[in-house]
Amino acid sequence: MKNELLKNEPYKVVESLKKISGDDWVTNDLSQIQGYLYDETEPLLRPEASKDCVVVKPGSPEEISKILEYANEEEISVITRGGGTGVVGGAIPTTASIILSLERLNKVVELDEKNLMITVEAGVTLADLLEVLNNQSELFFPVHPGDEGAQVGGMVATNAGGTKAVKHGIMRNHVKALEVVLPTGKIVNLGGKLLKNNMGYDLLHMMIGSEGTLGIITKVTLRLYAKSKYSGTLIISFNSQQDACNAVPAILQDGITPLAVEYMDRDISNTSAKDLGTTWPASKGSVDLLFILEENNEDELYGNSEKIVEICEKYNAVDSIIAETPKEQRHILEIRSNGYTPYRDNISDALDVAVPPADVPQYFNDIKELSLKYNNHILSLGHIADGNIHNFIMSDNGKLPSYYEELKEEIYKAAIKYGGTVTAEHGTGKTRKKHMNLQFTDDEINIMRGIRAVFDPNKILNQGDIFD
Ligand SMILES: Cc1cc2nc3c(=O)[nH]c(=O)nc-3n(C[C@H](O)[C@H](O)[C@H](O)COP(=O)(O)OP(=O)(O)OC[C@H]3O[C@@H](n4cnc5c(N)ncnc54)[C@H](O)[C@@H]3O)c2cc1C
Repeated sequence: MKNELLKNEPYKVVESLKKISGDDWVTNDLSQIQGYLYDETEPLLRPEASKDCVVVKPGSPEEISKILEYANEEEISVITRGGGTGVVGGAIPTTASIILSLERLNKVVELDEKNLMITVEAGVTLADLLEVLNNQSELFFPVHPGDEGAQVGGMVATNAGGTKAVKHGIMRNHVKALEVVLPTGKIVNLGGKLLKNNMGYDLLHMMIGSEGTLGIITKVTLRLYAKSKYSGTLIISFNSQQDACNAVPAILQDGITPLAVEYMDRDISNTSAKDLGTTWPASKGSVDLLFILEENNEDELYGNSEKIVEICEKYNAVDSIIAETPKEQRHILEIRSNGYTPYRDNISDALDVAVPPADVPQYFNDIKELSLKYNNHILSLGHIADGNIHNFIMSDNGKLPSYYEELKEEIYKAAIKYGGTVTAEHGTGKTRKKHMNLQFTDDEINIMRGIRAVFDPNKILNQGDIFD
């Protein structure tokens, strides 16, 4: 991609985009585009953004189609921006680019309660989606990555996961239809309000998790679910990571499927609580499992809670706390949600590996050894029932430690040794692509490159994401 026009005569690009989207929705004024250059990737890790960028905020898929046709003609790269909450640099333009923001595509198109589905434009945020469902429906949508500023289109593009995947799965399990503007400008509609659909290749699922490299998602139909009426929250504390992790498969084997099972090192719970001006309710032990249960009746809720405590005691749990009231439950969940925030300026990298859930205890042993080997106090937080652990590699006085690359690669290799993955839910983006070859063969990577070339022959979209 040459991007010559954007570098040398940016005003020409601005003028052409204004003809498509209108004067109010295009700018290359640095003070106005500043907020569109970075996402939530750790500052120490994120790549440097190019400032030779133009932000355009199209108001329809047809405008997006024209923008992409223009970008192909002029050989200008385009980067799609959703809520900007991504953590792998996916939305950071590292070359001169048109930054295409979906923020104006923010309407709910249809709430179809009979089919248990909702159709929204891609720029609807998770917060807005939850509010609409809360106010207008008895149905709910389960996927919840940690930041409600994420847009539905961004959640599809990253195949977001989050805490509730234990019971309800990830984004891929709930997307039924997509409207997508392909890199060439063609608009396609994939899938439908169908629960079974086997015709041809599954392009819908190819788009999910494609991180903006195969097309721009403009409309999404999601499956909704009946709400469970009774919810409860439990904290169960242990003295060892291994005991905590071994208890989890035993609970699932017993037929109990909590909404969420989260693992937290006690340092994280205490620091997060302190940051919020409160205290973490548990004091015994050194690590905690946090269970959220949602059941259809009170008996089931209490029965399952008791069963969980009983099973955890067999695995040497030292304490259990049941949050009785909604206020207590909110308090605990707020501390969990805030787990990353107080460390943000002190973390080099919050990793996102997954291993088969039964291998988590051995994986934690490897992390302990690496922590000692590199003298880095690696903290862990995770969606433990999914085998998805976020390990925090701490900074060295605000800088990336000299051994950072080496340590990170050893952690990835530890995960892959158990058949794991470098990234469970955050995606490849720009910060994880270097390690594609740890997980895939050259043949597999070449097939992926070939697929991308079919969709985007001129390499217009999201340059530098997933592959160089
Ligand atoms: C505090 C915090 C907690 C988080 N917790 C979780 C978690 O538990 N689980 C989880 O999965 N993630 C989590 N995330 C990461 C992030 O919220 C998700 O990846 C989210 O899905 C990104 O959505 P977004 O709209 O912000 O996308 P952006 O950051 O704007 O973009 C992400 C990628 O998707 C592409 N993209 C965005 N919109 C579109 C579109 N309409 N069409 C095509 N491509 C598009 C972008 O080009 C980019 O490559 C967390 C982030 C933060 C800051």
